[in-house]
Amino acid sequence: MRVHHLNCGSLCPQGRRLVNGEGGLLERAHVVCHCLAIEAGNGLVLVETGFGMDDARNPGQLGAAFRFAMSPRPKEETTALRQIEALGFSAADVRHIVTTHLDLDHAGGLPDFPDAEVHVLAAELEAALHPSLRERSRYIGGAHWKHGPNWVTHDAGGDEWLGFESVRILPDIDVEIALVPLIGHTRGHTGVAIREGEGWLLHCGDAYFNHREVESPPSCPPALRLFQTLMAADNAARKANRDRLRELASRRGDEVTLICAHDPHELERERAKASTAAADE
Ligand SMILES: [Zn+2]
Repeated sequence: MRVHHLNCGSLCPQGRRLVNGEGGLLERAHVVCHCLAIEAGNGLVLVETGFGMDDARNPGQLGAAFRFAMSPRPKEETTALRQIEALGFSAADVRHIVTTHLDLDHAGGLPDFPDAEVHVLAAELEAALHPSLRERSRYIGGAHWKHGPNWVTHDAGGDEWLGFESVRILPDIDVEIALVPLIGHTRGHTGVAIREGEGWLLHCGDAYFNHREVESPPSCPPALRLFQTLMAADNAARKANRDRLRELASRRGDEVTLICAHDPHELERERAKASTAAADE
C-alpha cells in the first residue's frame, strides 16, 4: 500500500500574508488542492479530485465570483488524471473516489473517471443535488456530475474511530478506510481516515485550512478565518469539529497525521516524509 500526495490545482488569491500567514500583502497567495492516490493491492483509490480536465479546458464554468475571489489555476497537467497516468495508471484503474464534500474545487475531476464509484455522505449528495439558493454557487449547477457518476452514499453511525462517529467503507479494498463526518463547511462534509501501518492519515478536507488551526495554541491567518466563516453551512458545527481535531492532534498526534485540502505546508511536509520513506526502502 502506498499513498501519493498530489496537488490537483492551485488557487492564487490576492494577499499572501492574509491567506498563508507569511509573505507580502501584495503577493499572490499559494493555496493547493491536496488529493491522495492510494495504491492498494487490489485497486487505486482517489481521495478528492481537485480540478479536472473540463475545468482546465473551460475555466469559465467555475463561475465569475469564484474566479475573481480565488484566482484558480486549473491546468491539464495538474489534474488527478494526468498525475495518475504519470505514475503508470490509467483512468480505468481508479475504482473508487472518496470525496470530503462536493464543492467545485474538490469534485472537478469526477468527469475524468466516469466508471469509478464516488463515495460521499448522503447529506452532501442531497445538498449538491438540491442546493439552497445560498449553496448554488458552490456546486456550480452540477457541471461536475452531469455525466452521472456512480454515487455510493454513506451514513455515519455505528462505527467509532478514535472517539469520532464513523463508517467503514470499501471493504473489498485491502486498505482500511473510514468516513469520519466533520459537518460544518458543508451540510455533508466528512473526513477520510486511511490506515497507514500502525497509524492513521486523516484527510480533513475543508474542516480547517491552515495547519496552525490544529496546533496548540491555535492561530489562523485573517482572510482564511473570514472565508471559512462566510462559506460555512453551519458555522457552529464547523468550529466545534475543528476544535475536536485540534484536541485529537494534541492527544493522539503520534498516531494520527492530519491533513487538510488547501494548506501547501502540509502537502510539502507529507511529500518530504514520503520521499524519505521511499529512500529508506
Ligand atoms: Zn475547498
